[in-house]
Amino acid sequence: MKTKASPKTPLPVPSADHLEERSRRAHTEPMSVLALGDGLYEIESASDHTYLVDLEGGRCTCPDHVFRGVRCKHIRRVAIEITDGRTPPPGKIAVVCHDCDDAVFVEEDAPEPHYCDDHTIWPGDRVVDRETGDRLTVVDVSELRADAVRLEATGRTVAEYETNANYDGDVPVVGAIYPHATVAPSGVVPESLKVYVFPRTRLEKVISRRSRRKRSTAA
Ligand SMILES: [Zn+2]
Ligand SMILES: [Zn+2]
Repeated sequence: MKTKASPKTPLPVPSADHLEERSRRAHTEPMSVLALGDGLYEIESASDHTYLVDLEGGRCTCPDHVFRGVRCKHIRRVAIEITDGRTPPPGKIAVVCHDCDDAVFVEEDAPEPHYCDDHTIWPGDRVVDRETGDRLTVVDVSELRADAVRLEATGRTVAEYETNANYDGDVPVVGAIYPHATVAPSGVVPESLKVYVFPRTRLEKVISRRSRRKRSTAA
């Protein structure tokens, strides 16, 4: 699993004059924070030292905490980043979206693949089949895995189809229809309602240009 640390940059300082020294340094020093799970965080400091913070236990492996017993700048930094939404709270970890580089906070034991809000698919969304380039419309997003869903027509699981050989079997399946020819002058053509089942990772959500632009200007 690809986990993601917060960028090693100083944070904006709220009214710096009133902060004591450790608190000021917790904000202003470049540190990166990586959530390891189990409430543990790995801090890479400005001087390239690596420390471990146990947030709920209020402990850190740095000398300032170990020898002086103080709430050091690393513990403070983890707390600040969680409050700011830059680092996941205990119980969650930051992972990289399957389809882009965005960080996503997920439960520690959440199964892969993980998707950011933009790449999460819902019924009605347009997706592209990576194998054929075809566009489809999502009708159902299941929690069942591709290696567990058996198709009646052939008796094979979704994962066993040759066309799905490039995709892991332990991902959820998605039902989708081809949006063309859904309605004839006489009404809906039943054949056009056939739902095809894909491993989730074979489909990529179509994100409109407008929402993509909005994302890049917001970043
Ligand atoms: Zn420390
Ligand atoms: Zn994404």
